[in-house]
Amino acid sequence: MNSDAAHDTIFALTTGAARAGVAIVRVSGPRASGLVSAITKKPLPPPRYAARRRFWGPDAIDDGLLLWFPGPASFTGEDVAELHVHGGRAVYRALADALAAAGGRPAEPGEFTRRAFHNGKLDLTQAEAIADLVAAETEGQRRQALRQLDGALGQLYEGWRARLIAMSARAEAAIDFPEEDLPDGLLAGVATDAAVLAGELRRHLDDGGRGERLREGFHVAILGAPNAGKSSLLNALVGRAAAIVHETAGTTRDIVEAAIDLNGWPVVFSDTAGLRVTADPVEAEGVRRAQERAGQADLKLLIFDGSTQAEPDAATMVFAGPRALLVANKSDLGLVAGSCSISGWVRVSAATGEGLGGLAGQIAAAAAAALDGSAPAPTRLRHRMAVETCIQHLDAMCRASLPELLVEDLRLAARALAAAVGRIDIEDVLDAVFREFCIGK
Ligand code: GDP
Repeated sequence: MNSDAAHDTIFALTTGAARAGVAIVRVSGPRASGLVSAITKKPLPPPRYAARRRFWGPDAIDDGLLLWFPGPASFTGEDVAELHVHGGRAVYRALADALAAAGGRPAEPGEFTRRAFHNGKLDLTQAEAIADLVAAETEGQRRQALRQLDGALGQLYEGWRARLIAMSARAEAAIDFPEEDLPDGLLAGVATDAAVLAGELRRHLDDGGRGERLREGFHVAILGAPNAGKSSLLNALVGRAAAIVHETAGTTRDIVEAAIDLNGWPVVFSDTAGLRVTADPVEAEGVRRAQERAGQADLKLLIFDGSTQAEPDAATMVFAGPRALLVANKSDLGLVAGSCSISGWVRVSAATGEGLGGLAGQIAAAAAAALDGSAPAPTRLRHRMAVETCIQHLDAMCRASLPELLVEDLRLAARALAAAVGRIDIEDVLDAVFREFCIGK
């Protein structure tokens, strides 16, 4: 974005394009006060007090409320006004025309948050948390986004960065000493501290991708022979869940995904092609994709028709293991003798709903075990890569022989964390982060 654009006064509908009782239009920038005075034909209200105002274009547009937040104590850090108007499309169109005529311009997606970031109101992880909070569909996602918005992740990275800077200062001191006067153990002490820090960074990453999975969902693959009842089970599980978040066809014709909110955890089920050996190339491709999905899943439900079989077919059993649950379906038809020999299996009927509550409980427990945690977790690949880069520089530092090299490695390690919180301006990273936003945020 060029510097002129950054000084524009911008406006947008912050409450989304849908028709609604009330809509909020946000105006931000150095000329916000002039714009608002021009369309209200009245002075501004006192800061942070709602005042009733009529909004004017060529004629009266609407009657609503006006709030004034002078910078820097505003969301963006600039002068900001909020106009609460009726949420009809024609109202916003007329207001947008009036604001543009007074010298404003429509905001780009994420531009308000980007200005807040540039004005030091938020670090980059907090800006990302706003996008996550807007997108949050379950309690777990909401809690994680709010924690990150409160600064938990950014503060963790800032704390580590401060320790790296302190280590650099000690290592710099070593460079300034002549060889013979070097205090005993100065460099060894720095190396020890760096190794301790690298351990903490590794533990931060070694959480099984908890933060990312909480954003994207805990993946459960439903696997089994054709006609075991996979689709029926998916429908029954999704149908009885309190809130269906969305249901979409997968990227392939043969994998259907459905995401639900299970006790506050986002769970994505995939119904896959029936597993069997086949000569049909199309079906074989479906089976290959089912197997691939099984490999990526956080939990596998191995389902079989318990009314005709004592256990799943061999093609399904290859996926048995610690992250798999055996599900004997069609209990309403009576299960064949011998099923009980398999330990840890769940008996259900997708048709009558028997056992589904218990199965859903087990899935929710597995999701909670994988996703719950109090320590701030990396929630994006971007965070993970920054921390990995930091670890690489710390490892290189531990091998460095000269104090000068050691200082350089520490500097690069600190820089990786500075990039994670957006302390150093890397425009392409910022573009990628703010591209996720919708207009008005
Ligand atoms: P898929 O090929 O594994 O997805 O299996 P489907 O869900 O399409 O089910 C295959 C057949 O089994 C259908 O005729 C279903 O109505 C039937 N079916 C599925 N679950 C049950 C169940 O719990 N009880 C009974 N009696 N029939 C079931």
